[in-house]
Amino acid sequence: APARAVAVVTGASRGIGREIARQLALHGLHVVLASRDAARGRDAAVKLMEEAACASVEWRPLDVADAASLEAFGAWTARTHGGIHVLVNNAGVNFNRGADNSVEFAEQVIETNYFGTKRMIEAMLPLLKPSPYGGRIVNVSSRLGRVNGRRNRIGDASLKEQLLTDDRLSEELIDGMVMKFLEQVKQDSWSPDDWPQMYTDYSVSKLAVNAYTRLMARRLLDRPEGQKIYMNCFCPGWVKTAMTGWEGNISAEEGADTGVWLALLPQEQATIGKFFAERREISF
Ligand code: NDP
Repeated sequence: APARAVAVVTGASRGIGREIARQLALHGLHVVLASRDAARGRDAAVKLMEEAACASVEWRPLDVADAASLEAFGAWTARTHGGIHVLVNNAGVNFNRGADNSVEFAEQVIETNYFGTKRMIEAMLPLLKPSPYGGRIVNVSSRLGRVNGRRNRIGDASLKEQLLTDDRLSEELIDGMVMKFLEQVKQDSWSPDDWPQMYTDYSVSKLAVNAYTRLMARRLLDRPEGQKIYMNCFCPGWVKTAMTGWEGNISAEEGADTGVWLALLPQEQATIGKFFAERREISF
């Protein structure tokens, strides 16, 4: 039998990540299920293996907010698998509830959701191999991180314009934005007029993930045929998981769907640097 394509899913011990891992395993990929808590992670991998005879799943420790952990994970992946075909950046945290815009945990949220995703991409890019689908990166984001969301928007007009103009988008701009936000939080001078009104710190982290997805897409587009990497992001919807206290209107299975679809989309249909929900492109 041909060797299986290898998928790494971060934050896969429960919720949406676990479901993405499950569905990729059922599609015949070998899944590296990565998360922090060993008991929960191992248990998830064992359960997925038990569920289907064809499933091939293993747990690996990974804390995307910890540089040493990330480095160890990258070295292990290179040693054990040589490379990977699919990377799903799903690991994320949120401490807001309801329409809350508490920023108490802003540093941890941005460190995990944005910098964790970014560092993971930097660490895994050299290991990404073209597959039957072309190398894939899928970033789990949120509609809350839209620049011009209906209920949640960036008030700073100049920042908004820069974020939406491809030529002005840069790593410095995105990192500068989150650092400025964290600085204002530290000084207690941040204003909901400037930053997303709901789930403020979480929304800033996802805004940064979205902008980074668009930025990287342009760099990835230049890669020669055969070495293409397709990176996109998506919003799973409002999903019943631990993160939402099992509120939400869809199951983790449904929430995972667009992510799995993006990871496995035939190469002719694959896009780069787009934002999706319910298998349809949406605006940033
Ligand atoms: P859960 O809290 O159910 O699961 C989060 C997972 O991430 C757990 O497996 C957790 O395991 C892992 N994790 C957390 N921190 C880290 C870390 N530093 N390094 C590695 N793994 C980590 O959340 P959901 O399934 O709801 O969320 C998954 C993704 O979907 C997140 O990115 C979230 O922002 C996004 N999302 C969710 C929505 C929803 O309605 N639920 C809506 C929009 C987006 P462990 O603690 O063991 O590491």
